[in-house]
Amino acid sequence: MTFPPRLIDGYRAFAATRLPVERSRFERLAETGQQPEVMIIGCCDSRVSPEVIFDAHPGELFVVRNVANLVPPYSVTGFTHGVSAAIEFAVLGLKVRHIVVLGHSRCGGIRAFIERRHHPDEHDFIANWMALITPAAQRLEDDGAAEKADYVTRLEQASIVATIENLKTFPWVGERVERGELQLLGAYFNVATGLLEVYQPGSGSFEPVPAAMPGDRAAE
Ligand SMILES: [Zn+2]
Repeated sequence: MTFPPRLIDGYRAFAATRLPVERSRFERLAETGQQPEVMIIGCCDSRVSPEVIFDAHPGELFVVRNVANLVPPYSVTGFTHGVSAAIEFAVLGLKVRHIVVLGHSRCGGIRAFIERRHHPDEHDFIANWMALITPAAQRLEDDGAAEKADYVTRLEQASIVATIENLKTFPWVGERVERGELQLLGAYFNVATGLLEVYQPGSGSFEPVPAAMPGDRAAE
């Protein structure tokens, strides 16, 4: 058994360059515990790392990643609700202020859903998992979007909205959203261009993040 050399090299680079810069932060976080204000629900896709996209430091983002950034509806039956357990810890334990559902272009999970949807296989974990977006896909098809060239993009974005809707079915999420203590947000990352678009609940559209203004972190 060999640990991948790429990971060994990567850790050495981290220990030599980033760790010295972040050391005091790590020490403080070890002492006080983590207090992230943001939870990210992202996709496993290796091109869509929330910490990279949001230029995040240790302790800033509480991240759960799964195929196609999905959340199942609230359910107390079954025992292996990994995503729901992470949401419970983030909301009730850490008291995060924002949950961001981060979807992306060229999502393999979405593609698998489109390809396998009409060929159910009970032994196919991905197909069973991706069935969570069936209602969102059905709504798109009812609107005639299935024939359009941007159907995949629409479905990728619809799955973000579906995840936000499923988050609201968790009673302690819905209550906190009602009281203004918790925000549910969506964002869509374009893998080819690096463009990030943010979900606008009013219009239902996704709009690009505005360019940096003087005084912003990116403009410094
Ligand atoms: Zn994906």
